[in-house]
Amino acid sequence: MKRLRLCILVLIVDAPCAVSAWGSHNVAAYRALERMPEVVNAKPVVVEPLDAFLRGEGRAIEALLAGQEAWAKANLLAYPARPAALAYKADAGGDEAGRKLTFLQALRVSPDSRLALYLQPDPRDGKEQGETLPYDAVNTLPEPPNASIRFVAVKPGQTVSALSVLATASQEPDLGLDINVWDDSPSEWGPRYGFGKLPFGNPTINFSTQAPFHMGFFHEDRIVYLAAPFLKRTFPMLRAHQYSTLATLAFRTGHPYWGWRFSGMALHYVQDLTQPFHASLAPGYSTARLLGINLMAMVGLSGAKQDLVVLLSNRHLALEAYQAKLVLNASVSRADNAIVRALQDTSQDARYPAWSDLYARDVVAQESYDFANTLNVILVNALPSAYVQDPAFDFGASDVKINKLMDAMAKMDPAKVNPFNDSIAELLGHFGAHSRNAMRGILNAAGMARGGAGPL
Ligand SMILES: [Zn+2]
Repeated sequence: MKRLRLCILVLIVDAPCAVSAWGSHNVAAYRALERMPEVVNAKPVVVEPLDAFLRGEGRAIEALLAGQEAWAKANLLAYPARPAALAYKADAGGDEAGRKLTFLQALRVSPDSRLALYLQPDPRDGKEQGETLPYDAVNTLPEPPNASIRFVAVKPGQTVSALSVLATASQEPDLGLDINVWDDSPSEWGPRYGFGKLPFGNPTINFSTQAPFHMGFFHEDRIVYLAAPFLKRTFPMLRAHQYSTLATLAFRTGHPYWGWRFSGMALHYVQDLTQPFHASLAPGYSTARLLGINLMAMVGLSGAKQDLVVLLSNRHLALEAYQAKLVLNASVSRADNAIVRALQDTSQDARYPAWSDLYARDVVAQESYDFANTLNVILVNALPSAYVQDPAFDFGASDVKINKLMDAMAKMDPAKVNPFNDSIAELLGHFGAHSRNAMRGILNAAGMARGGAGPL
């Protein structure tokens, strides 16, 4: 078993990690939440700095974060307890910078996280108004070349819509919050956080270090966990719980801006789990086949293993690039098409159980995992084979321009592409329904639930 374990470790450890799941969460979130009465009818909120919340509610935050730690210990598999020294103390921070640092460390997120005051406007509304912030004032990750993303500054006291705060924040956990928090991370803080070593991926690649918080391998075969116990160490449930309960506290204590903002951050992790490649280790590969590939690698025949890693990565990235482009195009052109309707559709929301602490694992990730093999077949059939069936091609390492992929897709047989588009619409239906159900759960816990579709 030890040799097998080592080999599965080898299998996973060099897997390139796609990081952002659904590309731009904020764009899809605008569509998913723009018809939810509890959001669109919510009063506009007054922007306030984080410190207004931290200074005003210090004792309540201290108690909440202690409760979060107790919850995590009781409910999460393989949870590494937070070192006692990191527990939040309301009066320990001193000044504003100290309070923020103490808070971020107690959450065990990157202490240089900006939590800036900004919005990512809805691309449907055209050219955004307002002062653009420098990229690194919002995002700690390096700015990619030719980045089109813009962060628009908002100021304390300014009034903004709940929807814009919520949708913007649904992208925020991909802006550097979960980077380098492991023992073997090249950071000052990682070794102090007590999460252990990075469970899989390359600890020197910053994107890889966030993956275990944005993926959830909860529903694999038992033998996979026996062979590779590190796969239990994925923690999107921790983040969803931390931010959703912070949102509830912020709403309850008169900080609605931070109520919607923390809600959006919690939604991000729920949304990530609607991506089947984030909830299933190897879509399209049976456990027996995975183990067989590993056995071959054990005796030195590692070609099949390397092919598997590249193919999984290519399919994962191609799906996300194509989906993000569909949602963006539909938003910019104000289309009313199947993609938009799937995101907006509230008719399926009540089909699911009511929101709970473990909904993201038991409902969202399970649904996603169950869909993974079917999706893989449809995806492989629909996309040009060079992108998804050729292990010599590395989607992540190449400079594939999304427009090139879209052009290639336009030349494919519609009889093959249509089922793929239908699958993406179905997945975006999940994205929308689970986003709204999570939001209802948070509002319900805050005593703010109102009428509208869903299980409230
Ligand atoms: Zn993510």
